[in-house]
Amino acid sequence: MKDHRRLTPRTDHLLADPRIEAAARRLGATITKREIAAAQDRCRAGDLEPEDVTEAVLAGLPATATTMRPVINATGVVVHTNFGRAPLSSAAVDALQVAAGTTDVEFDLDSGGRGQRGRGAMAALAEAVPAAGAVHVVNNGAAALALAARALAADRRVVVARGEMVEIGDGFRIPELLESVGAVIREVGTTNRVRLDDYAKAIDDETGFVLKVHPSNFVVEGFTSSVLLAELATLPVPVVADIGSGLLTPHPRLPDEPNASASLRAGAALVTASGDKLLGGPQCGLLLGKADVVQRLRRHPFARAVRVDKLTLAALEATLTGPPPPVVRAVDAQPDELLHRARVICRRLDDITDARPVPSTAAVGGGGAPGVDLGSAAVSLPPEMAAQLRSGEPAVVGHVVQGRLLLDLVAVPAEYDGVLIDAVRRVVKEREVLT
Ligand SMILES: *Cc1c(COP(=O)(O)O)cnc(C)c1O
Repeated sequence: MKDHRRLTPRTDHLLADPRIEAAARRLGATITKREIAAAQDRCRAGDLEPEDVTEAVLAGLPATATTMRPVINATGVVVHTNFGRAPLSSAAVDALQVAAGTTDVEFDLDSGGRGQRGRGAMAALAEAVPAAGAVHVVNNGAAALALAARALAADRRVVVARGEMVEIGDGFRIPELLESVGAVIREVGTTNRVRLDDYAKAIDDETGFVLKVHPSNFVVEGFTSSVLLAELATLPVPVVADIGSGLLTPHPRLPDEPNASASLRAGAALVTASGDKLLGGPQCGLLLGKADVVQRLRRHPFARAVRVDKLTLAALEATLTGPPPPVVRAVDAQPDELLHRARVICRRLDDITDARPVPSTAAVGGGGAPGVDLGSAAVSLPPEMAAQLRSGEPAVVGHVVQGRLLLDLVAVPAEYDGVLIDAVRRVVKEREVLT
């Protein structure tokens, strides 16, 4: 014990090691010194030999300077809020790389003067939805709605159906969000039913707009009725449609999910949506609508408080113009192809563990297409592996169903199958070492 204390290598000695020095340049002094201190503590306590401290520091240093770790989403929920919703396409990742430096996000290289901020992303969005007279992008879906309420209904009324007064997650509710920027909620109808006449009677000089919210995370069944957007558009006030998930055009596998193009054609003055749900892009809020309405929002002082950053603009543009992002590929995945992948993975694991390919049911998740089952397939494993797979690098997160750990493949890009196999093999090897 005494000896270890005396022989523990000093910090400056460790920092002089060329490999640790290189890591310090890459990761910064804070992270490197934290790792050095941890290894020195273990050495002083006698848990690490003095000659092994350098290697322990190197082994403990992270790959990058973020504590966020990569996760393989094998939960069977495509858009998983806890995993940061949509994983970006490789085109969007490349775009982030460019935008990370100094760029012409708000500069015109031809004239040498100021340029329209994020014009590439705006043009791509406008091109994707020709029915929109103008478009704007803010930080997220909630910000889009807040900006609309602030600019169009501050100290005025927003008329909304009681059945559409939804909580969007983590305790946040749309009516409270609208009230927080000064709008007054005028609710109409009952939990299950509302008629055009209910809206018509509620509208007066104080009305800013009628809001139609897509109940994106639940379904009401039975004796229900709601009013179509096209009918609401006959009312003498603007209609704002919060479609939620961000489908820009109809999707054949999600027939009940509203989309921006149809909502605008039905007469919405403004559509709000999230960029990181079914669109499969970065977190942002999309605003599409009549040119004069969008212009009012864009020039409102509050717009500056919800302004989107250059990274988001770059990733959004690449999502819109590039190849289909992972979320879109996951929703379009064919169950028999997924089952084929599960079979191949299991064959490559059957020498070491009880792995079985099984059909499964996946969900869109993340506030999109509630009640829609996506046919999928999974690798079924012994449940004891769950915790170890979560602690690996990358972490693999599945879900336990009826006493088996299912690694659902719907949201795992096919190019990660090898990584998945390696992760399971590593867990089996670790268990062998332990027993
Ligand atoms: C997800 C969602 C929101 C909130 O969007 P964020 O991008 O999470 O801020 C608002 N309305 C609806 C209908 C949604 O589905």
